[in-house]
Amino acid sequence: MYRTNTCGELRISDVSKQVTLAGWVQTVRKFGAITFVDLRDRYGITQLLFGEELNKQLEENPLGREFVMQATGTVQERTNKNPQLPTGDIEIIITSFKILNKSAVPPFTIQDETDGGDDLRMKYRFLDLRRNAVKKNLELRYAVNRAARNYLHNKGFMDIETPFLIKSTPEGARDFVVPSRMNPGQFYALPQSPQTFKQLLMVSGYDRYYQIVKCFRDEDLRADRQPEFTQIDCEMAFVEQEDILAMFEGMVKSIFKEVKGIDYTEAVQRMSWEDAMWQYGNDKPDIRFGMSLLNLKKPSSVYINKQDNAALINGADFKVFDEAETVLAIAVPGCSEYSRKQTDELTEWVKRPQIGMKGLVFIKVNTDGTYKSSVDKFYSEERLKAIADAAGAQSGDLVLILAGNEERTRKAISELRLEMGKRLGLRKDNEFKLLWVLDFPLFEYDEEGNRWVARHHPFTSPKPSDIETMISNNPVISNAAEYLKHPYANIKANAYDMVLNGNEIGGGSIRIYQRELQEKMFEALGMDKEEQLHKFGFLLGAFEYGAPPHGGIAFGFDRLCAILGGSESIRDFIAFPKNNSGRDVMLDAPATIDEKQFEELQIKLDLK
Ligand code: ASP
Repeated sequence: MYRTNTCGELRISDVSKQVTLAGWVQTVRKFGAITFVDLRDRYGITQLLFGEELNKQLEENPLGREFVMQATGTVQERTNKNPQLPTGDIEIIITSFKILNKSAVPPFTIQDETDGGDDLRMKYRFLDLRRNAVKKNLELRYAVNRAARNYLHNKGFMDIETPFLIKSTPEGARDFVVPSRMNPGQFYALPQSPQTFKQLLMVSGYDRYYQIVKCFRDEDLRADRQPEFTQIDCEMAFVEQEDILAMFEGMVKSIFKEVKGIDYTEAVQRMSWEDAMWQYGNDKPDIRFGMSLLNLKKPSSVYINKQDNAALINGADFKVFDEAETVLAIAVPGCSEYSRKQTDELTEWVKRPQIGMKGLVFIKVNTDGTYKSSVDKFYSEERLKAIADAAGAQSGDLVLILAGNEERTRKAISELRLEMGKRLGLRKDNEFKLLWVLDFPLFEYDEEGNRWVARHHPFTSPKPSDIETMISNNPVISNAAEYLKHPYANIKANAYDMVLNGNEIGGGSIRIYQRELQEKMFEALGMDKEEQLHKFGFLLGAFEYGAPPHGGIAFGFDRLCAILGGSESIRDFIAFPKNNSGRDVMLDAPATIDEKQFEELQIKLDLK
């Protein structure tokens, strides 16, 4: 037997027990004739005390950091207790020990605060994983996994595996492909998600499916994306949107409870996509704080139901506002006393290439009742007050206004809002706010191809009231500049996203389940009959054999863990992640393959 106890287990109540521990040497401290060793395993750290007798043996067999050892001895109360450690009241007086394996000197310290940089830690990820900080993240990940499984199991969901070697049907992201030796010249693709399989399972009658599953997308890796990531993937038959929202709101709340001990009893807020874009400038607003947008110009026909406030800025001869497609403002609480230096710094912030604005207009709502602005020349105090009031500014607030091209300005103000929220401490790690964003547009305009693409995916159903518009209109966009006037621009989808603290953590939809409507959808996306059959013949075929109404959702498991762990990086929550160029630096993958492998695959490389 290698051990009787773990290194995190023994307490004062164990004093005088004979124990054997096994683990890694964290530190060795020599004090004259005695030596203290901190022994570490997955469960904790226990102090070992080597007396005079054993010290001689230690001299012959010196211990080093990360050596693997087994030690036997008696538990005793420590004179010098360490309240930081759960085992800090005791130590083990060692009577015998054995070095089970030596270790080379690790390239960085195995401590919470390590001296190893990112690259080094990734290269030696197996050592990095020994660190407490990383271990805690993986423990949290496992807790989220368990909580999700328990919840879904209790609700009658079945975990059913779906294949990884499938057919390439790129839509959205690029597929990873795998050559088939047995079928020379042919390729499998790795699934971007099990989407069509879970729908087929509904046709097969498995009306509650889930899987915690890897998905593969060959995308350019923007910060904090991984080419392979994990989803909690779910599908249900005989459901409407409301059923899905209730079921998965329940799942996330149950994860909160089990993993974080949080009772999220309030109903999850809901917002339409149009409202989210109008009020926050993006479709995944962080609603832990206010600062919603004031639209001083209605920018496009996407916002069909909205009234703007253009009258507040018109007629002042201020060209920047007059010529801009969009003018948006936020009221930042308590910042009216910003100095010139501070407003200059904010101006520089919005001018950074990532934000891309030309400048920033501000109005200070001073506590003495006066209004001071960078556009005093154009606007009277009365008009400044009217704008500030409309933005919801209170005495002592600072109104920030951006103007310019629609999309850029919208993105910029939503970034600025988040930045100010962060600076003011309104985005707290330990506060969790869920939001459902509903009623997404079904289509998105693809400028390059001058065509419609599915905003979610091609299996998402339109709102029943919009089906007629979809069926009876020709999808062709005759005037690219006026694509927003095409009836398709306003078709809404039966789709929903779950947002947590400004991050999309899940998304799904009620699906199309009739062959005719699915064909119509493919047509709308510019797929002719032949392409439809080639890519999705199996699904269209299945829809002819009694497909039930169904819908589902998938959660970004890595992201959910990162947010619950209070981290911005999903990499910290993946045991063996890839870097920003999609490389596994430990394996040194991707890599070339042997000539023999090419031969077997009958593939010849001809790199451009
Ligand atoms: N398969 C979809 C995705 O990966 C989620 C869903 O619609 O259920 O985004």
